[in-house]
Amino acid sequence: MMNNNGSKKVVLRFPQEVADRPIVCELALRFGLRFNILRASISPHREGIMVMELIGSRDRQEEGLEFLREKGVFVEPLSQDIRMVEERCYHCGTCVGLCPTGALSMERPSFLVRYDPAKCIACELCVLACPTHAMEALL
Ligand code: SF4
Ligand code: SF4
Repeated sequence: MMNNNGSKKVVLRFPQEVADRPIVCELALRFGLRFNILRASISPHREGIMVMELIGSRDRQEEGLEFLREKGVFVEPLSQDIRMVEERCYHCGTCVGLCPTGALSMERPSFLVRYDPAKCIACELCVLACPTHAMEALL
């Protein structure tokens, strides 16, 4: 049988009702996967967000991710990078309240929105929310 090993980075979003359950451990116990948690945080809406590198055979990775989806976890591939296109940003602040890590913040007293890529976990909440598409995910 082909041993198609590799690693894959994913963003996992745990809605509040599943955030307290230790389902991530099941990836190792049930599917023999190894994983590195690269970043984790809790959004203002109490949703858990985790960026994880999964290591194991492709088949096992897919089975493990399907298991998480069945448990109510949202699984998305990790974007390589998130960038702000500053000319498109009109500093409305919509993204600031959504960003779970503080990567987007409103500077005082100027009220200009600033983006700090070092704090970004690439969850893409801002990409979905920005009315002018000023936040972009680069794959
Ligand atoms: S939602 Fe878009 S336009 Fe509004 S502050 Fe954020 S990046 Fe700028
Ligand atoms: S993708 Fe956007 S909302 Fe998510 S952490 Fe990065 S800057 Fe914040």
